[in-house]
Amino acid sequence: MSTDNTPAKDRDFLLSVVIPVYNEQECLEPLVAELKKTLDSQKWVYEIIFVDDHSTDLSPRILQSLCDQWPQLRGLRLSRNFGHQAALCAGLQEARGDAVITMDADLQHPPSLIPELVRLWRQEGFEIVNTIRAQSGGSGFLDRLGSHWFYRLFNRIADIKLTPGSADFRIMDRKCVDALCSMGEHFKFLRGQIPYIGFKQTYLTFECPPRFAGQRSYTLRQSIKLASNGLLSFSTFGLKVPFLLGLFTMGIVGIYAAVSVVLIASGKVHLMEGWLSLAALICLNIGLQLTFIGMMGLYIGKIFIEVKGRPLYFVEKVYRPKTTTE
Ligand code: UDP
Ligand code: MG
Repeated sequence: MSTDNTPAKDRDFLLSVVIPVYNEQECLEPLVAELKKTLDSQKWVYEIIFVDDHSTDLSPRILQSLCDQWPQLRGLRLSRNFGHQAALCAGLQEARGDAVITMDADLQHPPSLIPELVRLWRQEGFEIVNTIRAQSGGSGFLDRLGSHWFYRLFNRIADIKLTPGSADFRIMDRKCVDALCSMGEHFKFLRGQIPYIGFKQTYLTFECPPRFAGQRSYTLRQSIKLASNGLLSFSTFGLKVPFLLGLFTMGIVGIYAAVSVVLIASGKVHLMEGWLSLAALICLNIGLQLTFIGMMGLYIGKIFIEVKGRPLYFVEKVYRPKTTTE
């Protein structure tokens, strides 16, 4: 290998493939077979890093056996289920490649797309090549609706723009991986962090098949949590709403009071009239105040967790090939 200063793209390079795994026992062997076929055919030097997010099925056993068979494979097992984003970050920290690909374990991110990702990185000079799902990959109507409104809301209020349909399947140059790893926030939302760091980026559209086997492990609660983390991490809009609404309410109340004074002074209404609307206004006021105190609470909760500076994950064990002396 050369020792000059030419970028990795122009000489031999090491490619890392990072794959988070949570209860994917049926997918792991077909995935590795397909990955090896694709990567070996290109004659690249590569490593595949699995991050087992504390699976409770046979995934740990299968991962160990795969690591025993293929020297390019290794992995980590996290000490509990920390979630997809934390598992991805653990893999990024672990990867040593000049370029790193992140992809899911359920074959929804086709390994056959990897040569094109690498070509765009290597030959076209893109430092991040993102992917966009051309179709929903078997997700339900409610998921699609939720995702549509999430992207609309996010792009309206956040400081950065997200591309609808983007997937956590991408190739990143080493300097982008280092930039991501240097972002110390506890609540990770990679789809937001990627546009935030900048660099030369492009998008590739792909047909997203349904998952190869097993169930989607993102529950509705986890999806809502991820969406709210994204919104709260990349926008302070929620903190501005009470102020804007407060101004608006004061304006309405001012007009209401002025009209009432004029009507009472002209003798057209008696003082007791309108108590119902007054009661309604008071209730509305209480509701609004509670809502906005709650909204502040969401941000304060995030700050509370961030200031503790806790590690994002803990490693329980490392999957590596068994040596003959073990
Ligand atoms: N995953 C994970 N931890 C979790 C949930 C999911 O590491 O707590 C992994 C999962 O094994 C898969 C990827 O994250 O490789 C995406 O998960 P899933 O397919 O359930 O999500 P979807 O593709 O439906 O968004
Ligand atoms: Mg999936």
